[in-house]
Amino acid sequence: MVAAQVEGRVLKNYSGFYYVQDSNLNIHECRVRGKLKENIITGDRVIISLLEEGKGILEKILPRNNQLYRPKVANVSLVLIIMAHDRPRPSLSLLDRLLLLAEHSHLSTCIVLNKCDLSGNKEIDDIMDYYPRAGYSVLKVSARDGIGLDILRDKIQGEVAVMAGSSGAGKSSLFNQLIGRNLMPTQEVSDKIRRGKHTTRHVELHPLTNGACLVDTPGFSVLDIPRMRREELTHYFPDFIFHTQDCRFADCIHYKENDCGVKKAVGEKKILAQRYNNYIAMLEEVIENERCY
Ligand code: GDP
Ligand code: ZN
Repeated sequence: MVAAQVEGRVLKNYSGFYYVQDSNLNIHECRVRGKLKENIITGDRVIISLLEEGKGILEKILPRNNQLYRPKVANVSLVLIIMAHDRPRPSLSLLDRLLLLAEHSHLSTCIVLNKCDLSGNKEIDDIMDYYPRAGYSVLKVSARDGIGLDILRDKIQGEVAVMAGSSGAGKSSLFNQLIGRNLMPTQEVSDKIRRGKHTTRHVELHPLTNGACLVDTPGFSVLDIPRMRREELTHYFPDFIFHTQDCRFADCIHYKENDCGVKKAVGEKKILAQRYNNYIAMLEEVIENERCY
């Protein structure tokens, strides 16, 4: 009798077995046929043959939509950019950089403003109100008090989501809340671990009951701007596009040109000044990189 085959996603590799979740959210412990082993990474979509209850053989890797290198994981679809409402104050230069890096990798983004239980300040609120107007989704949550977590769970339904963001913003706390277990060490705990023995382990996807998967290691730790032409950068700033019709030059990069609609909009506070400054910092990096070609 030929074994039935199903498609699934590799959640983890653990002592020679691959744990594969199918579309009914059942998990199969799989061995691998032949040489495939060298190529499989967490997040891969695969075909498995079903054996007895809960066991399978991994037969084939399906083409990847994408692959992150740190952590090494395939087919991520969403980046949750975690910023704290306060303590630490959100870094807009990191935020704008992460938005660019995610979009450059064709990943959707959601800005998650954690610690909304803290009072914060009006300036941060005003700044954060800008991003939804610029077309980005922003969720206000509190890992500590459980605020907004159901909305966040709905947002990641069916997605493979990786977290990114500043240290101390609450990535581990949110991860643990979302999966309902304490797996990722929070800052206090990891300080203790750092003093103890260093342990390395493979990246894992943690399935939620709604079909979402969360990558257990934060992503985008390398923040270099990818190589691109200087004109390309502006495409990653959807809030600039509306104003480019007022630029005198069709190929304006909103830098040293006169009669620039984007710079005018910054002056009129229609574009957030910090965001424009972050654009210029990244543009100068892109121009610097062009010299190295
Ligand atoms: P990570 O470095 O991004 O993983 O951040 P952690 O999850 O380790 O959190 C850093 C600190 O912020 C810890 O002391 C957490 O207890 C605290 N924290 C996390 N989430 C919240 C929250 O929603 N509200 C408040 N007030 N503190 C939080
Ligand atoms: Zn311009």
